[in-house]
Amino acid sequence: MFGDGFFMRHGFATENTWFNPGAWHTAEDYYVLDGDAGGAGVYAVADGEVVFAGFDYPGPVVIVRHAEDLYSMYGHLDYDLAVESGSVARGQLLRTVLGRDDGRAPSHLHFEVRRFLITPEVNGAAPRYGFACGPNCAPGPGYWPIDAPEHPAAMGWLNPTHVMATRAFTSGVPEGVEVVVAQDAGERTELRSAPEGEPVGEMPLLPGTRYKLQDIMSGPVDSTETSAEGYQLWYQITVPNRAKPVWVQAAVPSTHDTGSHGRPSSVRIDFLPLAIAGE
Ligand SMILES: [Zn+2]
Repeated sequence: MFGDGFFMRHGFATENTWFNPGAWHTAEDYYVLDGDAGGAGVYAVADGEVVFAGFDYPGPVVIVRHAEDLYSMYGHLDYDLAVESGSVARGQLLRTVLGRDDGRAPSHLHFEVRRFLITPEVNGAAPRYGFACGPNCAPGPGYWPIDAPEHPAAMGWLNPTHVMATRAFTSGVPEGVEVVVAQDAGERTELRSAPEGEPVGEMPLLPGTRYKLQDIMSGPVDSTETSAEGYQLWYQITVPNRAKPVWVQAAVPSTHDTGSHGRPSSVRIDFLPLAIAGE
């Protein structure tokens, strides 16, 4: 199942104190906490066109254009190019995660969603802000503007989780869609009558348990929060022995990693949707 066993060690617009302290991360970094993410499959999140493949991040970067102003970017992939150009379908394998032993970071996927392919903030001959790969950086990687006073959302980066939730079912959740409790879910979850409403109960989380999905609510795609507390991903599900569906928070802020002020940078995913063919 897509995403199971992964942990978002640094979320969108959070601070990664051990890599770039003081700067807001432009992506979501997916790790396997008690293993190695190297070799894990990386799949296109939606139909689109590959518009960039290259660079050494380390590992190549692939960028897929989904609409005029919507791109997904996958960084730290391995060097065997599965797809270099052309159309890709949702769920199509792009590559695998680069297995790393460079000492800078454990193997992980750096996953961005943005409104642009290139931007004057970090690309071209006179980028506005410093970044890792220097002037005339290839279009794709121009990422993570260092020391920028602006929030990434002000420059066109988007919260990937919120974008995917917003676009998953644009005309309501169809009959038969389920969510499943993730392998690394927390032990319990609170049940609410409305997103962010008062709890009406709680239930244990047993990995692999499936629930019927009724509705999704997420935070804004251009969220301007600066910690994992900005993540809002609510699923309305049907649970046994309850007359009415309840809401659960699927993306839970975690202090596994924190910013310099102690606010959470990590996000634990408790529920995953089973909407994609083949799961
Ligand atoms: Zn990253």
